[in-house]
Amino acid sequence: MMPSGVPPRLLRAFLATGPALLAGFFAFALWVMWEARQEAWNKAALAAANLTTVVERDLSRNIDGLDLSLQGAIKSLSLPGIGTAEPGLRQAALFDISTTAHDLGAVMVIDAAGDRIYESVSDMPRAGNVSGRDYFTVHRDRADAGLHISHPFRRMHGGDWAIALSRRLPSPDGAFVGIVAGTMRLASFSELVRGLDLGDRGTLTLLQTDGTIVARAPPKDESVIGKTFPHSVVLRHFADADSGTFEETSVVDGVRRLYAYRKVGDHPLIVVTATAMDTVYAEWRTKALQIALIVVALGGTGMMLVALLRREVRRRLEAERAARASEAQYRAVADYSSDAILRTGLDGVRRYLSPSTEHLVGYRPDELVGRRWTANVHPDDRPIVELVLARLRGGIPQVTATYRVLHKDGSVVWIESQSSLIRNRPGGEADEIVTIARDVTARKQAEDALAALTEELAQQATTDALTGLANRRQFDRLLEQEVRRMRREAQPLSLLLLDADCFKLYNDRYGHPMGDQVLRNIAEAIRSVIRRPGDVGVRHGGEEFAVILPNTPSEGAVRVAEAIRKAVAAWNMPHERAPAGIVTVSVGAVSVHPGPDTAVASLLADADRALYAAKAGGRNRTVHAAVGGGTEAVRC
Ligand code: GH3
Ligand code: MG
Ligand code: MG
Repeated sequence: MMPSGVPPRLLRAFLATGPALLAGFFAFALWVMWEARQEAWNKAALAAANLTTVVERDLSRNIDGLDLSLQGAIKSLSLPGIGTAEPGLRQAALFDISTTAHDLGAVMVIDAAGDRIYESVSDMPRAGNVSGRDYFTVHRDRADAGLHISHPFRRMHGGDWAIALSRRLPSPDGAFVGIVAGTMRLASFSELVRGLDLGDRGTLTLLQTDGTIVARAPPKDESVIGKTFPHSVVLRHFADADSGTFEETSVVDGVRRLYAYRKVGDHPLIVVTATAMDTVYAEWRTKALQIALIVVALGGTGMMLVALLRREVRRRLEAERAARASEAQYRAVADYSSDAILRTGLDGVRRYLSPSTEHLVGYRPDELVGRRWTANVHPDDRPIVELVLARLRGGIPQVTATYRVLHKDGSVVWIESQSSLIRNRPGGEADEIVTIARDVTARKQAEDALAALTEELAQQATTDALTGLANRRQFDRLLEQEVRRMRREAQPLSLLLLDADCFKLYNDRYGHPMGDQVLRNIAEAIRSVIRRPGDVGVRHGGEEFAVILPNTPSEGAVRVAEAIRKAVAAWNMPHERAPAGIVTVSVGAVSVHPGPDTAVASLLADADRALYAAKAGGRNRTVHAAVGGGTEAVRC
């Protein structure tokens, strides 16, 4: 899963900065969401401020309009004859039609006792004393109250909520003569805000500057109307500025809201809109949730990838470290070892050869790396090496072998190798072969020499050194063996005893080395005559020889004996002091069908007797025991 082409340092740098990058990514996402939240707040605040402005303008225009009506009525009251004028005319003079048409309420003129004198809505003032109302008492008690806006009250006629605007009637002596008052139905305020979207739990409130709630929309809870909240948070802010926006938790219902307020004209009234924060942030919240989900998904994926990558890199590094450690150990051993150490893939291709390889086979390690293991193995021994490879691949953990490799100089080097399966990754499969190869040529040569020596010694034990014929020991053994065999097979056996004639004299005359040469020649003559397998020529001792002839009756024995004797004589080797003047041999022969009581000793004695007879008969002749010959000793 790790991108193998990426340089490890770059990868490590990436992994080191990965968490920081992720943290940055999260921080950026948070910042974006925070900004969006601020924007949502600002947007809501602007909307609320705009709403309060619209409502304030409308209200202040209505109030100003009503005030103009009051002032118009006051002016008209001072006209001479107004009190006696025809009622229709008086109504028209006192009350501005446009104002009364507003359906805001009614304008009325009230005397010092609190009774209505004139009223805009009818020619005949309706009954009802207002001397208890605040809009009356304030002017009765004070001359300078100017335009007074009353606390909300329920109208006597209609019973709905209203406020009254009132002015004191002037008098020449300054005495209190009454007031002119106009009522403003608060239902109109509710109608005004009905079309506005205040959102869930949003409110629009008309507040007096002393904290009295004049109107509230939506008109859910009428019980608060007319109530005074002198510690209202709006008043606290209003003390600083005539308009503004702020966020606060309501003392009335505990809901946190965004408030916007604005003073209505110059009047002691404040329009307040309150939007629940839930509404302010509703849209933002949906978006923020989406962004958060995406961020968490992306970040989580990123974190997971980084974590996986880290784990992979750590594992890779650990494996590399382990490999390096084991490699270092190999090399430490390999570089200082006189044995060659090879690392070979399971495919049989060499991956590494230690420096001592060069001492071993003459090739530098780099000449052999990448080549097959069998490349410079002696052709005859390649199957051995292939078998080693096959067995290792078959799961046998260690295999030893001895084989020949060809040295660069062409010579043959005997190698003894020990190959082991190893795994380079902890917990992994065996993936390589480590071979320790040793030059055992010297040992092999010593072994060969020893084998040759052993062979030679064995040869020497049975062979006569001078003539190469079987020796006396071998003769005794073979004779016993052949007697038994011929008995088993009911076959005849013949034995010849040969003795060089007057040989003592030959030595005396020609010297011992020449005598030896003659003996070799006699051996050669014997060898040249006996051809059948089973025939054995023997140097019986000194200048005496014997021939064992299995499956040979007396006639055959005599023929062989004569052939040998003639072969010796045919050389014509001068022997001045022998009767014939040349080197000759005498032969004694014996033949037997071996039976249960045939003794080797008697066989030999018979042959010896026959030989003696041959000597006695004049030498250079063959005497068969069964025939006999001269018995008189003749001296050389
Ligand atoms: P003959 O057999 O004809 O009666 O006479 P001879 O002189 O051969 O008699 P004998 O068998 O008594 O002599 C044996 C001689 O052979 C003694 C020795 O000088 C010689 N001889 C024995 N062994 C060797 C040997 O290995 N090398 C040589 N050169 N001479 C040997
Ligand atoms: Mg002799
Ligand atoms: Mg002799």
